[in-house]
Amino acid sequence: MLIIYSIIILLVFSILGIMVLNNYKTKRIKNEEIRLFQTANIVADTYKGNMEDIVFARIMVKSYGKQANARILVVDANKKVLIDNYNSYIGKTLDNDEIKYSLKGKSKSGLYSIDQKAVLQLSVPVTMNTGLETKAIGAVLISASMESIDSDIEHLRKDILTISAFALAIALILTAIASNNMTKPLRSLIHGVERVSSGDLGYKVEKSSRDEIGQLVDSFNNMSHRLYSVEKNRKKFINSISHELKTPLTSIRVLIESLSMGTNDLETYEEYLIDIYEETKRMEDLVNYLMGSLKLEDIMLDIGEEDIGQIVEDTVKLMQPYAEKNNVILKLDNANINGIRIKCDKDRIKEVLINLIDNGIKYKDEKKEHHFIAITIRNHKDYISLVIEDNGLGIQKENIPNLFERGFRVLEGNVSNDKNIEGYGIGLAVVKSILDKHNWSISVDSTLGTGSIFTIIAPI
Ligand code: ADP
Repeated sequence: MLIIYSIIILLVFSILGIMVLNNYKTKRIKNEEIRLFQTANIVADTYKGNMEDIVFARIMVKSYGKQANARILVVDANKKVLIDNYNSYIGKTLDNDEIKYSLKGKSKSGLYSIDQKAVLQLSVPVTMNTGLETKAIGAVLISASMESIDSDIEHLRKDILTISAFALAIALILTAIASNNMTKPLRSLIHGVERVSSGDLGYKVEKSSRDEIGQLVDSFNNMSHRLYSVEKNRKKFINSISHELKTPLTSIRVLIESLSMGTNDLETYEEYLIDIYEETKRMEDLVNYLMGSLKLEDIMLDIGEEDIGQIVEDTVKLMQPYAEKNNVILKLDNANINGIRIKCDKDRIKEVLINLIDNGIKYKDEKKEHHFIAITIRNHKDYISLVIEDNGLGIQKENIPNLFERGFRVLEGNVSNDKNIEGYGIGLAVVKSILDKHNWSISVDSTLGTGSIFTIIAPI
């Protein structure tokens, strides 16, 4: 940045310097020209008035030459030098542009470079009025060295250079100070970003202004603080989850170890198995809690070409003992499905079915004598339908639209408080989320006291 500023300042000073010097030179030469023309006219008048007394005229011209610091020549109509204040040209004939012009009655001036020194040369005619016409009877030629102007300009150039150098130095110092002040907060921010990215979460940058940079510092500090809190919570979370998982796992291991040692009677087996069941229940609750804290959008699918009939059959088989234990009849109708394959994530679809069957078992109507869940899978050529129907408690119509919302539970009507069926209200939200990701749909038809029908449509 400093280099750019230096170039700009140098350019400005160079252009200004050249303009000032040129202007000054032209003005000085113009003034000099006016002064010498005046002298030339005076000399012409003096010569005209003393043509008979040329000696006197020469003395006068000498004194004018001294005053004007110039060489003055007077020539006659034949270009012959009559007067020369330096004497050396007297009697010689001169034939330059200025004299030719002036003998025609005109004035002329020109700037020449002689031995690399500027010389201003000008001439005026000496005219005589004959009564009929005005005739040039000679000319006055003046040449003066412009050396003094050149040396003045040289001085001025040096002065301008010195001033420019000073101005440049001051401007650069001021720019350096200003840019240092301007970039200081940015440098602190960069340092802050480096600290945070190297793991120093919560690092704060000092705020030194209220402008946009100040706002950026505020946002950075906020971000750093939030990262610190997230990291702290994550560590706390992992710590407590590991602890919570370790306890039931250790109990299960110890129980299995005790069972595998020596011979135990059936009662001990039963007692230990109940304990193991309780511990796995604790772990299941924990996993449910973890799923609750997971964003549903983050669910990832592992898609493959799967035999959907087989998936449903396997899941029903898996849930069968649990259903029987709860006195629920689980029926499967997969009549026309015969090995049809469909793109899906096998484990996730199993999870969906387990959730729906588990709900059918959980929310069975105790008042009824028989409990059933009927699962029907049908091939409709361009789609497959999967219906899970139960004769459980059923759901009130007004609750159906909220059923798939995360955390939604029907606590009145079908689930009485005293019965207190365990749950987190996330099962159906997960089901919906998984099916959405497959581009499959799910709908519910339910009547309180009669039962519920969940229908899944999977396009082929
Ligand atoms: P959870 O079962 O953990 O409460 P879900 O998301 O699986 O959460 O279900 C939400 C609510 O929908 C449940 O609390 C229950 O009231 C109702 N529900 C779900 N499935 C059924 C069903 N088959 N029969 C009656 N009610 C049900």
